[in-house]
Amino acid sequence: MQARFKEWYTSRHEYAKEWKKRTGGKVMGYFCTYVPEEILYAAGVLPVRIMGSHEPQDVTEPHIFGMFCPFCRDCLAQGLKGRFDYLDGVMIAQSCLHIRQTYASWQMHIPVDYSYYLCAPHHVQSPRAAPFLAGELKEFTKSLEGWLGKKLTDEDLDRGIRTMNRNRSLLRRLYELRRGETPPIGGLDAMYVVASSQTTDKGEHSRALEDMIKALEGGKPGKPPGNRLMLIGSEDDDTEFVKMVESAGATIVIDDHCTGSRYFWEDVHADGDRLGAIAQRYVDRVPCPSKDWPARKRLDRILELAKDYKVEGALVIQQKFCDPHELDIPAIKKALEENGIPSLFLEFDVTVPVGQFKVRVEAFLEMIRQEDLF
Ligand code: SF4
Repeated sequence: MQARFKEWYTSRHEYAKEWKKRTGGKVMGYFCTYVPEEILYAAGVLPVRIMGSHEPQDVTEPHIFGMFCPFCRDCLAQGLKGRFDYLDGVMIAQSCLHIRQTYASWQMHIPVDYSYYLCAPHHVQSPRAAPFLAGELKEFTKSLEGWLGKKLTDEDLDRGIRTMNRNRSLLRRLYELRRGETPPIGGLDAMYVVASSQTTDKGEHSRALEDMIKALEGGKPGKPPGNRLMLIGSEDDDTEFVKMVESAGATIVIDDHCTGSRYFWEDVHADGDRLGAIAQRYVDRVPCPSKDWPARKRLDRILELAKDYKVEGALVIQQKFCDPHELDIPAIKKALEENGIPSLFLEFDVTVPVGQFKVRVEAFLEMIRQEDLF
């Protein structure tokens, strides 16, 4: 049953092409999980998150500065190589400067019918953030309506909100299962489920996810998980890395990154003002570090999850040159250490083979296991 999510993730381009053929609908590629997918689903557009392919590449150098994060460069490389040639539109919600540069280069060099820059506020802790974002969502909705040649009704927006909230609540239910002593699903399969939810039609994804959860809830408990770990950091859909960690006698039972729990932890609480409610959700969501200041709201949540999921250690990963995460990491490591949770920092780059991390992860696990002896 888990195989379907892996298939959706690994064949995401083929899926989107087939979806277009089947429905006649348009596909919007998006950067960053601050893009309000509710509005795209309301419009009948399939949102597909633009992610990298984890292969070394040599096509972005003329377009994007070499000291931008490897995730941004990998994403742009996929566009330049024509892997997203089925997209009808592309959009971003402002997060970090690196991914904005990817969007800007994409707009310049990869033709699409429609592109949109959504100005999402940085200072989400300001009381002005939600009304500001609501105004921007209104402008975006108008622009989308102009492109599609149809008006979005309240019923459309309600449907978009329901579609997203249903998927989110199922993902949370799946993560709840990972909290138990013997989680019936490991970190690798959970990563496939979340990553595929960012590229697959949510209705279809939710139906499959509900069936899988029912089977897991009614099935046998999973294997003993070995060392329970948390994965914290930048965007991460590096399945080879997770596979390696879990083959070393550990299980990733929880995470804090945007291809994981940060993507789906909060719902939209819709009332009469739909766009206002959507804006409030994106302002209140677990923040990306590019927006998490002056207070670091993320720290308390990381500690709460670490305790709740009984983690014995944390892998703190950072895409090389990622400034927002780099600024957060000292505070995260300190908070974890003060709470007795050892952590291992790893810098990710698509050119670093997973074998180099293996030695360090095994040494970290060894350290955790020795601590257990005392
Ligand atoms: S990994 Fe860091 S630099 Fe790269 S897109 Fe994400 S926040 Fe920006």
